[in-house]
Amino acid sequence: MAKEQKLSPMMAQYFEIKKNYPGVILFFRLGDFYEMFFDDAKIASKVLDLVLTGKDCGQGERAPMCGVPFHSSDSYIAKLVSYGYKVAICEQTEDPAKAKGLVKRDVVRVITPGTVIENNILDDGVNNYLCALCKGDNETGVCFVDVSTGEFHITSIGRTDEQEKINNQLSTYAPKEILVNSLANELDEVAKFVKSRLDIELEVLDDSCFDFDNATNLILQTMNKEKIDSLGLGKSKPAVSALGAVIAYLRENRKTDELEAPSEIEFYEETEFMNLDISARRNLELTRSMMTGDKRHSLLWVIDNTKTAMGKRMLRSWLERPLISVSQISKRQNAVGELVDEPMLRDEVKELLTGVNDIERLMSRIAYGTANAKELRSLCATVERLPALKELLQNANSALLKSIYNNIDTLQDVYELINSSIVDEPPFSMREGGMIRDGYNQEIDELHTIMQGGASVLAEIENREKEATGIPKLKVSYNKVFGYFIEVTNSYKHLVPETYIRKQTLTNCERYITQELKDLEGKVLGAKDRCVALEYETFCAVRTTVAGEVERIQRTAKALATLDTVASLAEIATKNNYCCPQITTDGTLEIKDGRHPVVEALLTDSPFVPNDTLLDCKTNKCSIITGPNMAGKSTYMRQTALIVLLAQIGSFVPARSAKVSVCDAIFTRVGASDDLATGQSTFMVEMNEVSTILKNATDKSLIILDEIGRGTSTFDGMSIARAVLEYVVKKIGAKTLFATHYHELTAMEGMLNGVNNYSIAVKKRGDDITFLRRIVHGGADQSFGIEVAKLAGVPSAVTKRAKAILKELEANKIEIDFKAEEAVEEEPTDDEIQFNFKAKSTDEILELLKATDVNTLTPIEAMQTLYDLKKKA
Ligand code: ADP
Repeated sequence: MAKEQKLSPMMAQYFEIKKNYPGVILFFRLGDFYEMFFDDAKIASKVLDLVLTGKDCGQGERAPMCGVPFHSSDSYIAKLVSYGYKVAICEQTEDPAKAKGLVKRDVVRVITPGTVIENNILDDGVNNYLCALCKGDNETGVCFVDVSTGEFHITSIGRTDEQEKINNQLSTYAPKEILVNSLANELDEVAKFVKSRLDIELEVLDDSCFDFDNATNLILQTMNKEKIDSLGLGKSKPAVSALGAVIAYLRENRKTDELEAPSEIEFYEETEFMNLDISARRNLELTRSMMTGDKRHSLLWVIDNTKTAMGKRMLRSWLERPLISVSQISKRQNAVGELVDEPMLRDEVKELLTGVNDIERLMSRIAYGTANAKELRSLCATVERLPALKELLQNANSALLKSIYNNIDTLQDVYELINSSIVDEPPFSMREGGMIRDGYNQEIDELHTIMQGGASVLAEIENREKEATGIPKLKVSYNKVFGYFIEVTNSYKHLVPETYIRKQTLTNCERYITQELKDLEGKVLGAKDRCVALEYETFCAVRTTVAGEVERIQRTAKALATLDTVASLAEIATKNNYCCPQITTDGTLEIKDGRHPVVEALLTDSPFVPNDTLLDCKTNKCSIITGPNMAGKSTYMRQTALIVLLAQIGSFVPARSAKVSVCDAIFTRVGASDDLATGQSTFMVEMNEVSTILKNATDKSLIILDEIGRGTSTFDGMSIARAVLEYVVKKIGAKTLFATHYHELTAMEGMLNGVNNYSIAVKKRGDDITFLRRIVHGGADQSFGIEVAKLAGVPSAVTKRAKAILKELEANKIEIDFKAEEAVEEEPTDDEIQFNFKAKSTDEILELLKATDVNTLTPIEAMQTLYDLKKKA
């Protein structure tokens, strides 16, 4: 870059401003355009598909430049921000007409992915979080804020498994920006996670931004409180510092010292919610389907019947944070139950909620002073429905519906104010008048009369002049060049009085002005300018008054969101025939006729086949599930996890009946896919996930293990699978569903307390198989791999050849025999579990197995058959 003194004055000003915004794309206002220069221009031209030109900047080389018109800049800013860029808006801060020399310019706002409040950038149904991490001596403070809704969530995480726990929080909230202090920047696992999973980088702020005393002052000032203890922020100093840093960052980006009080500060312990790591969230497809990559075909897709954006966000956040406390779960469940039992009430609630606007986000824009008159009317339209909504809940019985009733403030003062001050259909722009209703402000009314009066006064003048001059075709008109004028055709020119001043001669007429017309013009035009200014001022005053009610409005918004969420769960429960689960802490999970909510919703040709699940802390700790591919093993395991999860968000569940003992975590190891995001191999990913599970699961957790050990050689894989199984059952005691294609593992039943074999029934006729989708006691009798291949349409030449090869292999088969008894007696150590493999002829057992028709066996007979088989082994 050339030296600044050589630059043109405007470019010198540009650099002076730009130096404070490294890494931020600077929108530099030049007349009707925002211009970008140098690297900013190169990035923006690519992202926004703009032509890159050049500007003479006083140097040999021209500065790369591109620009966007200021009046349509919103969509360009939105695009840059959605690509993760920050944009600084640099405006002319003085009237160019009055400026002496170069117009003064300054940055008035910085828009960043984590701080946007513009509707066109935000996704209606998803919160938009900014996060701060402040690592202290003993703990890390974590703060998430959604500026667009005013929600603040704060927690503190201790040293044990710190990085993993932080990552779990980050996967819950999926923030768009993460600010860290220098110590937190050293959390390498967090940095890796953030890069690979959230596709962003940690942003290190100067440690002074996290200073505890400054943070305390800032928070007290913002919250209008005297003592930090009164905010319920817990004892964590780093948590206070993280919150302080977030507030400072928001102020800095909004260039304001004022920040409206957050509507809600929640200090939570991570143990208040079910532990769901990113693998579980992904594998269970809670909010996003792995197949479609978006909400379609996810659990959220099935259970979302919300009518408002606020409800959509709340339902999602319930799903992201299932509860642990029985009383809290019951509170939600009772409210859902009440609306299930009262279909008329539910319908009325839904009807009134339909069309309720996103007053939560509207309110943030009102509080930040960016909302226009249309948005105020939008708030007013929703407020108008509040009395009717509140009345509906008048006789509600459940505690949650009652508290919703209490929290809905009908806000009639706000309604009155907006309705009396703002016209029904105000313009989009706030600078052109036409917003304020007649009768609200006397001066504005008078100015309106003058402005409208212009027309009638003109008619009056025209008639009077016609009479006075005797010119019948005299016309008073207006154009931009001369303002008001009188037009007289040539044939009457001789009748024009002396007081008329000639302005323009046309072919067949003359145009004149008079002093009276000039005066009128001044008055009307002056009235318009004055009126526009006064309307804007009045509008801002109304907006500020409404902003003063932020707390009441946000409380009402939250109540509406909760009502919408509860009504949605009740509607889905009814529509999809879900039952109310009994929530306990006795350690037993018992589901009768459970279904997979998403698979069920997607099946069109055949009905979903329901299945039971029984898992407890004693004799049913672990179910080993075998069965051919495509039989329905994964579906069965996932449905169990989803039923537990739904139960813990307070929802009804897809089953005939369900008893759910609260789980502290659900862990999954499902499917084998290369993790392209982190560049790890299938096997490495699998082992990472297994290791996380073994480290974190407790006897209150639910673990889903699907085909572990698949990514390595058979013996390796089987050894790992068995070792994991033993560890989970004996050491952890978690409820576990374990699908495996290693049939040898079914030998664990009877050897390891609490392990039971199940399989998914298949009917075989000749070479064809039919999936019965029913889960039955006992291991699967064979893999049916070739039959499944046939079903899938693999050419018969290939399946026939496969059959021949299989026969050959089976004739020379070796069997793997775990030295089962030894392994069970011997207490395995944490990282050492023993195996022994021995080749052995299995002809006899194979024959017996082949002769057994599993489909016709009762569970007891199946058990007996297995014992018999085992004796022969
Ligand atoms: P696996 O894990 O055994 O390979 P999946 O669980 O992936 O099999 O199931 C394969 C397909 O079978 C599912 O996509 C679904 O369409 C169907 N399916 C599974 N379970 C059921 C069921 N209980 N009722 C009806 N269809 C089912």
